[in-house]
Amino acid sequence: MYRIPVEQLKEAPGQKRVYNFAIDASSLDLAEEGVTIDEPFRVRTEAAYSDGKVFMRGFVSAKVGLVCGRCLSSFSYPLAGGFEEEIEVEGRTALDVTELVRESYFTGFPLKPLCHPDCLGLCPRCGEDLNQKQCDCRREHLDHRLLVLKKLLDQN
Ligand SMILES: [Zn+2]
Ligand SMILES: [Zn+2]
Repeated sequence: MYRIPVEQLKEAPGQKRVYNFAIDASSLDLAEEGVTIDEPFRVRTEAAYSDGKVFMRGFVSAKVGLVCGRCLSSFSYPLAGGFEEEIEVEGRTALDVTELVRESYFTGFPLKPLCHPDCLGLCPRCGEDLNQKQCDCRREHLDHRLLVLKKLLDQN
């Protein structure tokens, strides 16, 4: 449990306090195929109490290992997310930030993981990683298309 102590904040209304957590990925229930998380999430949370509510702002960062959607290589991605919440704390002694961190992870997660924005990917024919080496398939492919075109022209 990663908790913000409400009682402590109530002692000084309007005063911002900072809480730092290192949250183990296993406690966030993030199991996803092709994703590895080796380090704990670093979470910095600013919180203040006022008028029966706690205002929280969190900054979440983690290094996650992803698989590139184009060339299938593994790469390290610096995930960054955050949250802002205003929570009624009537009768509560602590606020758990685990779920907020979990949500931040999903909003910070790239829709299309790429090892590099210009990743060339794998050749669809021979499977060569085109970032490493230019294969000959592209040229052959063009030759083949010209051949098809020539055939069509010959038919007429
Ligand atoms: Zn790639
Ligand atoms: Zn190829």
